[in-house]
Amino acid sequence: MIAALGETMSHRNLSAVLCLMLLSATALAAEPPIALVIHGGAGVIDRARMTPEREASYRAGLAAAVDAGYAILERGGSSLDAVGAAVRMMEDDPQFNAGRGAALNHDGDAELDSAIMDGNGPRAGAIAGVWHVKNPVDLARLVMDRSPHVLLVAGGAEEFALEQGVVLVPRSYFRTRARIAELAEEQQAAEDKARIQNPKGTVGAVALDRAGNLAAATSTGGLANKHAGRVGDSPIIGAGTYANNQSCAVSGTGAGEYFMRQLVAYDICALVAYGHLTLERAVSEVVHEKLRATGGEGGVIAIDPAGNIAMDFNTAGMFRAARDGHGRREIAIYHDK
Ligand code: ASP
Repeated sequence: MIAALGETMSHRNLSAVLCLMLLSATALAAEPPIALVIHGGAGVIDRARMTPEREASYRAGLAAAVDAGYAILERGGSSLDAVGAAVRMMEDDPQFNAGRGAALNHDGDAELDSAIMDGNGPRAGAIAGVWHVKNPVDLARLVMDRSPHVLLVAGGAEEFALEQGVVLVPRSYFRTRARIAELAEEQQAAEDKARIQNPKGTVGAVALDRAGNLAAATSTGGLANKHAGRVGDSPIIGAGTYANNQSCAVSGTGAGEYFMRQLVAYDICALVAYGHLTLERAVSEVVHEKLRATGGEGGVIAIDPAGNIAMDFNTAGMFRAARDGHGRREIAIYHDK
């Protein structure tokens, strides 16, 4: 009798365990998608000048940033925090054209631009032409969270930074050896005043969190040897940065003047929202047809509410990385990955 009871109990236990396993497997399968995509700039990434060491170093920088942002999504954090963390990490990495490694303008100064956008709302914050802000993406976030404005520029943006207690650094912080050398090279080559310099190394991120919210962020020093006061597409909402939960989130990189004239980031989301194109097709149409038709060179990263991602560019390369909840973890530079 006791043996029979024991047997029944263990059967019950077994079926309870099986039930639990089934339930958690279903819960796992039904878990909302999360994903993060980052870029570290598009342009002529000369394979001849790209030594194996430099390539490994870029890849390590991208890996660190994508993993930092993804860790936030994985523990249930917001897409906004994830894109901020990924971009901040690349701003601190001098090989990218943002924060510490920002390209220098004609006068030898870094003038930094950044934007962040919350697809929920949507809400946005941006700053342009600042000289002393260590992490421009953090200041853009503060403009969104703690001011009634969307875009603050130059002295006013720095005044706001002071009020908010963000970290300010002397201009010399941005004058890295590599950027000083790059500026000298650009200035030598820039006899042709109409030439728009090849940009490289701007950073950006887009993400989808478990709550279904999209976010985008972009940060840059702009073009090397640019005129003082020049602002590119990165901090212009709809041009280089855009996010809306109803359509998609986009961060662009490339010759900003073209992205601004065509409102590239918004155009992609409009093609998704009103044209009912898939994200991949919308991105491809804008990057390879519309942008290219006007001579615009560059690329974008994008994500939609279902977790579909796109990373496309019409240049020789784009530093990029992606991670999602299905185990995808990709780091690539050229078309052939
Ligand atoms: N889009 C940036 C700008 O024009 C540059 C870049 O993406 O490399 O300021």
